[in-house]
Amino acid sequence: MKKYQFWFVVGSQFLYGPEVLETVAARAQEMAEKLCAVLPYPLIYKVTAKTNREIAEVCKEANYDDSCAGIITWCHTFSPSKMWINGLADLQKPWCHFATQYNREIPNEEIDMDFMNLNQAAHGDREHGFIGARLRKPRKVIAGFWQDGDVQTRIGSWMKAAVGVSVSKSMKVMRFGDNMREVAVTEGDKVEVQAKLGWQVNTWAVGDLVKAMEEVTEAEVNAQMARYAEKYDMATDRMDQVLYQAREEVAMKKLMDAEGCLAFSNTFQDLYGMRQLPGLASQDLMAQGYGYGGEGDWKVSAMTAILKAMGEDGNGASAFMEDYTYHLVKGQEYSLGAHMLEVCPSVAADRPRIEVHPLGIGDREDPARLVFEGKPGDAIVVSLIDMGGRLRLICQDIHCVKPILPMPNLPVARVMWQAEPSLTTGVECWITAGGAHHTVLSYDVTAEQMKDWANMMDIEFVHITKDTTVESLEHDLFLADLAWKLK
Ligand code: MN
Repeated sequence: MKKYQFWFVVGSQFLYGPEVLETVAARAQEMAEKLCAVLPYPLIYKVTAKTNREIAEVCKEANYDDSCAGIITWCHTFSPSKMWINGLADLQKPWCHFATQYNREIPNEEIDMDFMNLNQAAHGDREHGFIGARLRKPRKVIAGFWQDGDVQTRIGSWMKAAVGVSVSKSMKVMRFGDNMREVAVTEGDKVEVQAKLGWQVNTWAVGDLVKAMEEVTEAEVNAQMARYAEKYDMATDRMDQVLYQAREEVAMKKLMDAEGCLAFSNTFQDLYGMRQLPGLASQDLMAQGYGYGGEGDWKVSAMTAILKAMGEDGNGASAFMEDYTYHLVKGQEYSLGAHMLEVCPSVAADRPRIEVHPLGIGDREDPARLVFEGKPGDAIVVSLIDMGGRLRLICQDIHCVKPILPMPNLPVARVMWQAEPSLTTGVECWITAGGAHHTVLSYDVTAEQMKDWANMMDIEFVHITKDTTVESLEHDLFLADLAWKLK
């Protein structure tokens, strides 16, 4: 992930003479260098732009440079915005307009008209803001003093969302078999997601995976077993079952890496030639940053990989999740999330255990899987759905807790949470918006980052918060439906 960088493009004009422009350039360089030390990705000062040509050139260069994950613009002085139209119209990278100024204070004695001309971001940034609005260009506006920690945190947070855009645009999903029969919400228009989000979603035969599994060597299986032993406690003596998961994992990883895929899906309905549904194998792959979706759910698989990449250097905790069952005791209302097997150990509170239990679904041998409790903390759940003609991203604020019951006979990893605004209103909102039972649960990525990401990808965003009511949501969805049809 560290290959990404952002470019700092500062707007000005020739009106103020060469000395002012030199000062602006020197300050921009200084700001970029100091911000580099605190931001999650490098911020590279590129240019103090004074002409249409300079702006068009830097935007074109940004488009074609794979390492550039976005541009951050600022107007130290006034920069007439007609100069920006051609460049911004062509810009295909995420854009953040940083409305700041070099000085924190207005200096009482020093201030004169020269000072005013040099430090006029207050109106320079308004001119710059107008053209963003006029062009209907997706952009993030962040205002504040550049040395303030909270402002720097917001820029860093946006950078990570922008990296999510880059990751999305190069996303390749390996589908082992098709979706689970008859399920609606896991379907979707693969042409639409490729045009809109950049995802290449294609199918590989389960038979080819089985062949790759047969070609895995004993040495490769043993090396994988050693990696399991490092990270997990072996709470079973059925080693054949664990060895088989190791073989599945090595084969799936090889196939994905050979194709440059960062996400995969499979279904218990198509395990032709396989003895176990991958459980431990899928969980351990997710822990390495791969996305996964059960029942052929390639949308949630790709989203899992994207949120994991956006959370880089956070606590790494983003996981494929499924709302399973509720605890509806008054005052103790919780969702219990889990899956048949495949919950990512990045969300584990303690060291996960490898266990082997029967699986009633899929008609295969007992699969090895990781069992653990999810950790407490504030989080979000997100779901991407295909509305027919457009994509909708639904995000809900949640608070994970230590599961209030030990549930000793539940043979899978589990996470428990309180949803906003309450369990039942939250469920009503989620269902009203059409959110799936599959989600990505993340302790790392914020709702604001998902809103920024959706904005940059030009898709609908729905946020269920502590303040959401069913009435307000219905109203918003009705208006959004009209707006997206006109778009
Ligand atoms: Mn499922």
